[in-house]
Amino acid sequence: MPSRPSTLFADLDVRVETDVPLARHTWYGIGGPADFLVHPQSVEALTTLVWRAKRESIPVRVLGSGANLLVADEGVDGIVLKLDAPCFTELRYNARGNVEALRVGAGADLAKTLNDTVRRGLEGLSPLAGIPASVGGAVRMNAGGAYGAIGDAIHSIGCVSETGEMRVYPASELAFGYRSTNIPDPIIVWAAFRLQDTDPVALRKRVMEIFNFKKSTQPLADHSAGCMFKNPTDPKSGERVSAGKLIDLAGLKGASVHGAEVSERHGNFVTVKPGTPARDVVELVRQVKARVHAVHGIDLHCEVVYWSRGGGRESAGNEVMS
Ligand SMILES: Cc1cc2nc3c(=O)[nH]c(=O)nc-3n(C[C@H](O)[C@H](O)[C@H](O)COP(=O)(O)OP(=O)(O)OC[C@H]3O[C@@H](n4cnc5c(N)ncnc54)[C@H](O)[C@@H]3O)c2cc1C
Repeated sequence: MPSRPSTLFADLDVRVETDVPLARHTWYGIGGPADFLVHPQSVEALTTLVWRAKRESIPVRVLGSGANLLVADEGVDGIVLKLDAPCFTELRYNARGNVEALRVGAGADLAKTLNDTVRRGLEGLSPLAGIPASVGGAVRMNAGGAYGAIGDAIHSIGCVSETGEMRVYPASELAFGYRSTNIPDPIIVWAAFRLQDTDPVALRKRVMEIFNFKKSTQPLADHSAGCMFKNPTDPKSGERVSAGKLIDLAGLKGASVHGAEVSERHGNFVTVKPGTPARDVVELVRQVKARVHAVHGIDLHCEVVYWSRGGGRESAGNEVMS
C-alpha cells in the first residue's frame, strides 16, 4: 500500500477514493475493498501515475466493468484504476469511403458502443452482443463466443506501458487467441475498430438473434463472472472441449459451497447469492477442478481473473484460484 499517497496523487488530475468496496464494481457483487480507486481525468495524469507507481513498486490494476473478476474478501492492495472520465470513454468515427473506422476509449461500455454502431449500420461488433464489458476489458480478454471475438475487428490499440509510456499497436503486431492476447502493456487506453457499412435493419436483427441465443443458454440474470473456466484442450484428441459439458458430465451442476453454486442452467457458470464470501467461490472452483480431473483426466484453468491482496499486477487469465 502506498505509505504516502499524497506524493503519488496530490498534483495530478485524478479523482481518488480510498478503501472502496469493489463488490459494487463487479458483476459478482462480492469481494473486499481497494486501498485506492483512482479515476484519472487525463491521459497525462494516467501515464504519470503509472510511472510513479512503478518507481515506488506499488501494484496497479485496471478495473473495467468487473464482469470477469472475482475479488478476494480481504480486497486488493495498491491502486485500482477506473477509466471512466470522458477522455477514456468517448467514441470517435472517421468516415473513409464506405468503410468507417471507430476509435473508442477503453472505459466505454461495450454494449453502448455496439448499440451505437448498430444504429449507424456499421458491422463489426455484432458477435459481442450480450457480453457485459468495458471496451478495454473486452480487448484484454479477447471477449467473444460462437459468433466471433473482438480481436477480429481490431484495427489498432493504444496502451500505457508499465513505465508510463503511451504506445500504439497496429493489428498486424497483435495476436488474439482464445480468451487471450499478446498485448505487452498493462493498460489499454483506446481501441480502433474496422467496421463495414451494412443495412441497419438486418444488422439489428442479427444482433438480437445473437443476444437471444446467449440469453437462452446462459444465466445472464444471476450474479456471476461469465464462464469460470476456459474450454480446455483434450490431451487425447488435441481438440478443445467444452468445460461446461465436462462439468455437467461429472455431475457437478447444482454443486455448491454455501451461497456459491455451479449453475443448473450452464455448468461453466458459478453463480453466487448476495453476500456470499469470495472464499466460497474459490473453494467451489477447487472442488470442480478436482472432480473434473478425477472423472475426465483433464485440468481446468480459470478464465475469471482473481484479484487478491499481495497478488500484484495480474494479467488477464492469470490464475490464482487453485
Ligand atoms: C453474465 C455474463 C456473461 C458473459 N459472457 C461472456 C461471453 O459470452 N464471452 C466472453 O468472452 N466473456 C463473457 N463474460 C465475461 C466478461 O464479459 C468478459 O471477460 C469481458 O471482456 C470483461 O470485461 P470487463 O471490462 O468487465 O473486464 P473486468 O472484469 O473489469 O477485467 C477483466 C480483466 O481485464 C483487465 N482489464 C480491464 N480493463 C482493462 C484495460 N483498460 N486495460 C487493460 N486491462 C484491462 C482487468 O485488469 C482484468 O485483468 C461474461 C460475463 C458475465 C457476467
